[in-house]
Amino acid sequence: MDKIFLYGASPTEIYEELNLDKKFQAKQIYQWLIKGVTDFNLMSNLSKALRERLTNEFGSAISSKVIDTQVDDSGATKLAIELYDGAIVESVLLIDKNERMTACLSSQVGCAMGCKFCRTGTMGLVRNLKAAEIIEQFVHLRAIGNVTHIVFMGMGEPLANFANVLSSIRFFHREDAFYISLRRITISTCGVVSGINKLTEQNLNVKLAVSLVTADNNLRSDIMPINDSYNLEKLKKSLLHYQNKGGSRFTLEYCMLSGVNCDLQSAKKLATFTNGLDAVVNLIPWNPAAELPWTTPTTQEINTFTKYLDEFHIKYARRFTRGRSVNGACGQLATKSRIKEV
Ligand code: SF4
Repeated sequence: MDKIFLYGASPTEIYEELNLDKKFQAKQIYQWLIKGVTDFNLMSNLSKALRERLTNEFGSAISSKVIDTQVDDSGATKLAIELYDGAIVESVLLIDKNERMTACLSSQVGCAMGCKFCRTGTMGLVRNLKAAEIIEQFVHLRAIGNVTHIVFMGMGEPLANFANVLSSIRFFHREDAFYISLRRITISTCGVVSGINKLTEQNLNVKLAVSLVTADNNLRSDIMPINDSYNLEKLKKSLLHYQNKGGSRFTLEYCMLSGVNCDLQSAKKLATFTNGLDAVVNLIPWNPAAELPWTTPTTQEINTFTKYLDEFHIKYARRFTRGRSVNGACGQLATKSRIKEV
């Protein structure tokens, strides 16, 4: 059966892809897809003959399927999604105390960046996701709840798959598609400066989050290999450029590692780095992963660090961890499966 990737395609593209007779049929299929109906047989305003032909030729209108679902006490739901080639990605639906539902999407199978606090980093990069595969994760999560926000904080470095991520964002925002406000979409990067600069040029008005972890160059290079290519000085320069070009306040994700980056010296260096940046530091106590050597800071350690941040007038927020018990929290996503033999 031929594989098709209809999510992200316009009605004109669907018309051509499916070799339809009439343009209005493409529009009908497009509208079903937006509703989340992916079984051609259920697209009731198509003729029976067309439904049968499409089913016989393509099977389904969606290329991926959910193969596992886990829910934790906070209501966070993690899906394992099998892609057309047998590769598996994970996506998470997070619900906050205001009932806001955020889809945490993956942009790659695995990741090449190798951040040492992150389970995905242990996988290496298998491949980039197509725009359709990114959108399909959203569709699977929306079948569970009314998604209002999107964060690219799942598996992969979104700015290393720039074109597909951008294309999916444009589709999420389309008025005749999901019409998600750009301000409700966040791209999280480990600090790929070339990607931040490209994003700045797009003037897209999405939110930006940068995983900082430490404002010490040597320590950052030890924990995040990206720092060897783009050190803190280069990162800050690109963030200042982003800010000066009208980019709104961004977050600096600070994964707190006990005994590593939560002391007075770390706070001082953070004060120097954030000086001049319109940024909020997002404090994220490290989410445990058995195979990694770090320890989650104690509440006492976190409180002491925030006291230092207060003294240095650093703006920060403490993130409440959701999804941790299903390994769906930040840095915990990883799939053992690579690509099945085909
Ligand atoms: S933190 Fe992000 S960029 Fe770093 S290894 Fe994990 S998925 Fe990749």
